[in-house]
Amino acid sequence: MSLTVGVLALQGDFREHAATLHAIGVESIEVRRISELEKVSGLIIPGGESTVMQKLAVAYDLFEPIKNKIHNGFPVFGTCAGLIMLAEEILDGIPGQAGFGGLDVSVRRNAFGHQLDSFEADLEFAGVDGLVHAAFIRAPIVDRVGAGVEVLSKLDDGRIVGVRQNNALGISFHPEVAGETRIHELFVRQIKNA
Ligand code: GLN
Repeated sequence: MSLTVGVLALQGDFREHAATLHAIGVESIEVRRISELEKVSGLIIPGGESTVMQKLAVAYDLFEPIKNKIHNGFPVFGTCAGLIMLAEEILDGIPGQAGFGGLDVSVRRNAFGHQLDSFEADLEFAGVDGLVHAAFIRAPIVDRVGAGVEVLSKLDDGRIVGVRQNNALGISFHPEVAGETRIHELFVRQIKNA
């Protein structure tokens, strides 16, 4: 069965996600309009700037369609700003900030502050053998997880950086800039099992 994964391409590092999918032999298209959204079996929401992504999703008439699809079980994978876009509650957002939802979590934006703007770490990640190489860039942290949410990965200090709830997978970090392909593989398996 051929499968095409969409990468939301309004803003942020969507090209790196497309390159990562290419590296694991999975076809992808950039999604900027509804007709493209209708062609894909799952959607990656990249890192970037969540406040801008929200505005552009509204301007491109994609906000409600994506939100509805997610709530109807469509597979989605959000990284960094993409995780913020999937959180039911956004802490330290700007006034009026909202995402698509899909993950019953509270996510705090820019949680590491200026001292530790960007860093890399090797993490255990449920469903992946060996350590995952993760780049954190002005990253959010998951502050609260609801009852139906699986925690997939934590930092050494216990802070949560990877979660899944049914069809929605969200991580605080960027595997796609660190040459890490296994979380994308995990998402593709999730789509195939959906
Ligand atoms: N700080 C950004 C935001 O709030 C996320 C940063 C990122 O995606 N690397 O959207």
